[in-house]
This record gives sequence, C-alpha cells and structure tokens, in this order.
Amino acid sequence: MSVLEHWIDGRSTPTVDGTTRVGTAPATGAEGATVTLGTAADVDHAVRAADAAKHGWRHIASTERGRILARVADGIVAAMDELAAAEIADTGKPDALARAEIQGAADYFEFYASLVHLPAGDVLDIRPDLHVYTLREPLGVIGVITPWNLPLNQAARACAPALAAGNTVVAKPAETTSRATVALARIATEAGVPDGVFNVVLGRGAEVGTAIVRHPLVRKVAFTGSVPTGQEIGRIAAERILPLTLELGGKSANIVFDDADLAFAASEAVRAFATNAGQVCSSGTRLLVQRGIETDLTRAVIEATRQYRPGDTLGPMITRGQYETVQEYFEVAEQEGAVLRTGGAVVDADGFYIEPTVYSGVTNDMRIAREEIFGPVLVIIPFDTEEEAVALANDSDFGLVGGVFTADISRAFRVAEAIEAGQVYINSWSTQSVQMPFGGHKASGYGREKGIEALAHYSHLKSISVRIAPGR
Ligand code: ADP
Repeated sequence: MSVLEHWIDGRSTPTVDGTTRVGTAPATGAEGATVTLGTAADVDHAVRAADAAKHGWRHIASTERGRILARVADGIVAAMDELAAAEIADTGKPDALARAEIQGAADYFEFYASLVHLPAGDVLDIRPDLHVYTLREPLGVIGVITPWNLPLNQAARACAPALAAGNTVVAKPAETTSRATVALARIATEAGVPDGVFNVVLGRGAEVGTAIVRHPLVRKVAFTGSVPTGQEIGRIAAERILPLTLELGGKSANIVFDDADLAFAASEAVRAFATNAGQVCSSGTRLLVQRGIETDLTRAVIEATRQYRPGDTLGPMITRGQYETVQEYFEVAEQEGAVLRTGGAVVDADGFYIEPTVYSGVTNDMRIAREEIFGPVLVIIPFDTEEEAVALANDSDFGLVGGVFTADISRAFRVAEAIEAGQVYINSWSTQSVQMPFGGHKASGYGREKGIEALAHYSHLKSISVRIAPGR
C-alpha cells in the first residue's frame, strides 16, 4: 500500500510521528487514497524549510523567478492526464470539469509569472533634499489552507501570487483531496522552484491547519473554506496580528427580469448551481425571478437540470459528510413548506450522488434560502420590482457573487452596482478569469484572490526616504 507523503524541502517526506487515513472514492464508495496525517512537528519542519529558503527566493532576479513560475504552468499542462486522474479519483468530478480547473491552475502560474515585471513601488516627489520611494516586499512564509471542492485550482490560486510576490509557501490541502496539491509541489520542484520554497503538509485541519496558523514564522494565511473554520482561524490570527485572506461561503443570488432572454437565463441559472454539483463557494443558489415570468422560467430551469446527469456531467458529493448534509437540508425544506419541483433525493448508485434539486414557494427567510447547502440545490424566489430584487439579493449574511439578467442595460448596471458582492455577472453566469479579482463581503470573507490585486495581499509596502545632501 503506497502512502501519500508530505512534500517538504523539495522532496517527498514521511511524517515524523503521525498516522494514516484511508479515503473513500466519492464516485464509487470504494477505497480511496491512503494519505499521511501529519502533526505540528511536520508543520514545524516545513515552515523552517520555507523560512530558510525565503531569502534566496526573494533575491533571485525577478525575470528568473518569472521564468521558473512560467515553467510550473507548462509543467501543469504537461501533467494534465496525471493531475486529472488524481482529481477525479479524489473528487469524482466530471473529466471536462477537472481538466478545465487544472488548466485554470496553469493559468494562475502563467499570469503571475508575467507580473513579476511590474514595478515594485513608486517614487514620491516630496522635497528636493529627499528621495522617497515605496518598495513592495514579500511577507515571508505564507500558509495556504484549502478545501476539497477544487483542490488543485484553489491551491494554485493562492500559491502562484504568493510565490510571484517573492514569498515561500506551506500549503495544506483537505485530507480528503490531497493528491493533486502534492503533485503540484513536485511539478514546481521539477520546474526549478528551489527546495523549501513550496512545501505541502498533509493532515487534518484541527491539527495541521491550526499548527500552520499558530506557527510564529508564518507571516500570512490564505484560507479557503467554511465560515466556522474561517472564524476559528481569525481568532488565532487576532492573537498573532496575522494577516489573512478569507475566502468563505456564499448564498449568491441570480436576478432574472422579465425582459431577459429566458431560455439562456434558465440554462445559466442551472449552470450556476449545478456546476461541481453545487460544491462551489460562488454557486448561484438563489434564483430571484420577476413574478410575471416565474412559471415559464421555473419550467425552463427544471428542463435545463436534465443536462446534469449523475455519473456523467454531474459528479458526486465529494465527501460522505457533505452527502449527508445535503440530505438533511431536504428534510429542512420539507419542514419549511418549500415546494419540491425536481430532485430532492439521492441517486440510486454506489457513489455520493444527489439529483439536481429545485424548490419554489420559498421565502428569503427560510433556512434553505439563507444557509449555504453546498450541494446542487436551487431555491426560486419571486419579486415584483427592481428595488425588491436588490433588497432580497442583499438580505443575506453572505456577499460573494451575484448575477443579473435583463435587456435593459441601465438597469443591469444599476443592479450590478447595488448588489453587495465581490463580483457580479451581467447576462451570463460566472465569467471568471484569472485577471478578475475574486473575494467576498460580509460573511463571505475579505481580501482578494486573482488579478493584479492579489499581489497586494501577499506583500507589504515599505516607504524609504533618503536625504540628499546639498552640493558643495
Ligand atoms: P469544508 O467544509 O469545505 O471542508 P473546512 O473549513 O472544514 O471547509 O476546511 C477547509 C480547510 O481548512 C481544510 O484543509 C481543513 O482541513 C482546514 N481546517 C479545518 N479546520 C481547521 C482549523 N481549525 N484550523 C485550520 N485549518 C482547518
């Protein structure tokens, strides 16, 4: 039996004193990967390796750093088959989706490789006897803690800008989906990332994740995951005055007005909640529909769910726990009196499959409209006016993304700017790209991933003033 080990200081590294965990393949229920479960001792080993490597990496010529990161992007593409097999084994997601996410991981490295050429600061014109400039500097060792829904993509989303900004990294994937992140570290090492610059420690959140957040040599943590864990990390970070990027949950609203292209809006509304079987923080799980088209749009949405076929275009719940959680929400929906329009059941198969599920007769105060379910579950809520639609969209603890479908361009802009969210899509759902900053408001978190903006979250700005002595 082969055990997946940590990647520390440029090599596969066994646990100092840990145990192992045997996973479950979510698509079949069969035995999955055996992974090592590290402890604080492994975290300390990795963080010290990252700390020792930070000066060398920070002072490498920026063009060379960029070339190395560009080679990581090439390495990811070259390893597409291997990475897709690892992601599919761990998550059960459809092949095309896995490959798109892996290509996205390569895109992060390609994009941030090119940004190493950006100026590192400004010159401030203050006084003739002073030369004052700002210098953007790396923070040091960055902890990257990621969940199980888009394992490789989310690891790359944080690691690529962190490395491009001159930091070193200790990453911790979810223990259920560790393979691709370890493969990424190996690919990075093969691409020329120096030993110690990119480390991966495997294990459980309460043990390994907490140890990363607590380690005194870790200077920032980028966390993607649930709100309770984000809060827990925030409490530790408060003690340490540790900067965080928190990318947490969402209950994002898609608003469809009666002048929208109905068929297209319906298929986008389904893509918004069924992609990755709804296990995406930026899923569009509330569909706000103008009352006059509610019947037609609901019918079109139900029809469009048929494109998501379990085991084919629709993957399973990635963990057994999530599979059970979604079923609990089916009971909540029934108790709350929501009207089940399609789905609402598990699929009769060995894996953790759930049917795409749509509820109408929902009000925005129901739990199924307020809580992040993280499964393929959509609630449909009618509205009458633009003001009401915006108020409903914003009446949420979360504020991650939003969508608006309308033929009225002025209304599209008005609504997009009124929605409390980090990103809003007009007339198509989730046109995300590496260039577009991503992150939340309210309980969805703070800080931004992606775009040039992310570099600011993996660096700090120093101001330096130099006295210029008068000429003699
Ligand atoms: P999800 O519900 O998506 O699994 P979690 O927030 O539980 O989200 O997990 C996201 C990541 O955070 C995983 O890598 C997990 O192991 C890690 N994690 C969980 N609890 C903690 C914690 N207390 N401190 C640090 N990391 C944690």
